[in-house]
This record gives sequence, C-alpha cells and structure tokens, in this order.
Amino acid sequence: MTKPVSRPAKRPRHPGTPAAAPTRRQPGKAPKTAKNATARRHFAIIGAGMAGVVCARTLVQAGHQVTVFEKSSKAGGRTTTIDSPFGSFDAGAQYFTVRDPRFAQAIDTVPGVCRPWSANAVRVLDAAGRVAAAGLPTREPHWVASPGMNALVTTWAAPLLQAGQLITDTRVSSIERDPLNGTHWQVRTEGQGGAQHVYAGFDAVLLAQPATPAQALLAVSGLDTPLNAALSRVTTAPCWTLMLAYPQAVRPDLTTLGPQWNAARSTHHRISWLARESSKPGRTTVERWTVQASPAWSAEHLEDDADRVQSKLLKAFSEVTGIRAQPAHADTRRWRYAQTTQPLGQSHLWDASLALGACGDWCLGHRLEDAFVSGLEMALAVA
Ligand SMILES: Cc1cc2nc3c(=O)[nH]c(=O)nc-3n(C[C@H](O)[C@H](O)[C@H](O)COP(=O)(O)OP(=O)(O)OC[C@H]3O[C@@H](n4cnc5c(N)ncnc54)[C@H](O)[C@@H]3O)c2cc1C
Repeated sequence: MTKPVSRPAKRPRHPGTPAAAPTRRQPGKAPKTAKNATARRHFAIIGAGMAGVVCARTLVQAGHQVTVFEKSSKAGGRTTTIDSPFGSFDAGAQYFTVRDPRFAQAIDTVPGVCRPWSANAVRVLDAAGRVAAAGLPTREPHWVASPGMNALVTTWAAPLLQAGQLITDTRVSSIERDPLNGTHWQVRTEGQGGAQHVYAGFDAVLLAQPATPAQALLAVSGLDTPLNAALSRVTTAPCWTLMLAYPQAVRPDLTTLGPQWNAARSTHHRISWLARESSKPGRTTVERWTVQASPAWSAEHLEDDADRVQSKLLKAFSEVTGIRAQPAHADTRRWRYAQTTQPLGQSHLWDASLALGACGDWCLGHRLEDAFVSGLEMALAVA
C-alpha cells in the first residue's frame, strides 16, 4: 500500500475550452465568487461518466482541484462504445435529447462531436414486430456523438486525463477520514492486478456513480449520513444488450437486411429497443444492430449465462425484424443499473457537515442530459 498521495497543487486550466469561441460557455461554467476565489479545495470524484466529468470540469473552472477515479479503462460510463471487427456499437446510451440550454451551450463547445440522427426513421412496433406508429410521440431531435456515443464524455474528459486529474482503471473501495488530518478524506482504491493505493488530502468526496453502488460504497465505508436514506429511495432497472453485425448485407444489390426503419421501440416481451448502428452519422456502413432487452425480461434473466441470453434475444430479434440470417458477430453486455425507474427528485445530494455529495442521472431521471444537469448542479452547489 502506498503512502498517501497528494496531487500537485498546480492551478488547473479549464479543459477543452475552444480558444476561438470566447462567447461559448464551457460545460458547467461556474460563476466566479469571492468564496471560490479564496478557498481552493481538493475534491475526490468517484466515477467518470457524464455526471462525474461535468462536475469535475465545473469545479476546475471555479478554481478547485479535482481527482476523478474511474474503475474502467476510459471515461464515459453508460455511454460506452464497443468496437468490433465490423465497426462500433453504442452498447449503452443510444442517442440523447437536449432540453436544458446549459447542455446545448456545453455541446457547442465541442463542435462536430454531436450530430443529429434521423428521428423520422424511429418506429414503434407491436409485439409481433409490426409498425404500430410511424414515429415517437415527440418529434424532438435525436443527437448522437461521433464516432461513438462515448465521444462526448471522453472529449470533455481528455484534458482532465492529460492533467493527471482523472485516474482510470482504479476502483474506489472505501472512503475514510484522513488519519493525518481528521477534517480531510482519503479514498482507498484497487487498480489493475489488485494493486491497492490510498489517496489522501481531500476536502470533500463526491460520488458520481449509479445510486446502488454509491449506497454500497457508503455502507462499506461505515458512513452514517442522510445520503444513505436518500439513495435508498432510488430504484433502477437492468438491461441486457445484444450487438449484431451482418457484413453479408454490404453488397451492391443489398445495402440493408430486414426492415427499412433504423430504430424502433418494441412491445415484444423480450425486446424494448432496436437500432441500426450503421444508420447513425459517422459510423461505418457494415449492417449492425443494437438490441436492448426489456427491463422486466432483463431483471428476470439478470444472472443467466450470456450465451443463453444471446440466443434468446437473437430469436426475438428475428421475430421482430424478419432477419433470419446468422450474424457474423454477436456480443452481449449486461447493465445492472441501466435505467432509473424511481429518481431522487432533486439534482444532487450534499451533506455539508461531512462534505460528502452524490450526483448522477438517477437524481433527476434516466437520460444522459439528467446526468449532465446533476453533475453541473452538484458542482455549482459546492464550488
Ligand atoms: C443500455 C442503456 C441505454 C441507454 N439509452 C439511453 C438513451 O438512449 N438516451 C439517454 O439519454 N440515456 C440513455 N441511457 C442512460 C445514460 O447512459 C445515463 O443516463 C448516463 O450515461 C448516466 O451517466 P452518469 O454519469 O450518471 O453515470 P454512469 O455513466 O453510470 O457513470 C458512473 C461511472 O462511475 C464509475 N464507477 C462506479 N463505481 C465506481 C467505483 N467504486 N470507483 C470508480 N469508478 C466507479 C463507472 O465505471 C462509471 O464510469 C442508457 C443507459 C443504458 C445502460
């Protein structure tokens, strides 16, 4: 185990600010106040999904120091993009909508990363795969990041990574009081190959994980805080995801297999969503589909073997799309905490007496934008 590590106290520059666009606002730009001008604090942020990255950037902009811990090899969280020999798949979030002007302004700071995806190709299907409605009830634009959905968060996270403020492949296993300074926090981590470290000297810890792991981390750390009760009110549903590639469809006389729509919500008991990945802007043209199992079916089969899940979902995919061909590539991904079913109802949690906070999509809903707003408002509340 290493000695406590403090990050160098160099003043962080704001990540990813486009020099040529001074009128554009960066994600979560915090107003300068007398307080944050004088009291520079060091925040540990656990999780580098949308909420954690936006929170970190906003705190850096307000003049604070951050260290973001991420258990995966990359930032992005549930916006994961998985590569295959036939092209990429958005294994998590499929697209996003933009309703909050602060999200719109933030997206403007990374021109070209987000592009509209043809919403009029989205269908609603009945259980037998027949088109029941020609479009989603709302006609708001569907946006995707390019070349994969993870690009938005990874682009915003890149300057944090370069500045040593984002530590990947590192899971926080507990949060403790710093023995060298009882008002500070330290976090215990586990890295690749089981390597354990302790990072110390934090003024505050902000949990930017899904609600259930956040609650588990507080419990394992033995922390008695009102956050526990609030987190326990949040509920989430899992999602099994199937990814399929059909390179045989790329022939001059055959550009796509099956239906002509590019995405659909389905009432089939196994499948709730299907999307033709190759129809999204900035992707390769090899015919690829991402299929999401329904929350109820995913919950019922949560602990099933991945091969078994794959064959059941493939059968359902054939029933819904009429595609009987065998895919050249098939992969599955299980999301234990995919979608919030009961949100907290407020943008973040902050226990000022302990200097502990929590944010994430689950505070407000189940959408990527909810994670953005939550991370932003978490940071603005403590900056
Ligand atoms: C299958 C699926 C489909 C979806 N479809 C859509 C969609 O079409 N549109 C939409 O708007 N939204 C969609 N979403 C939801 C969207 O992806 C989320 O709302 C958003 O990505 C959540 O961001 P977050 O930062 O709150 O959490 P996350 O993205 O979950 O980030 C949390 C991060 O914390 C890390 N972490 C957890 N525990 C630890 C630990 N102990 N130590 C270190 N790191 C830790 C995780 O690895 C992760 O990177 C979908 C999600 C899923 C799973």
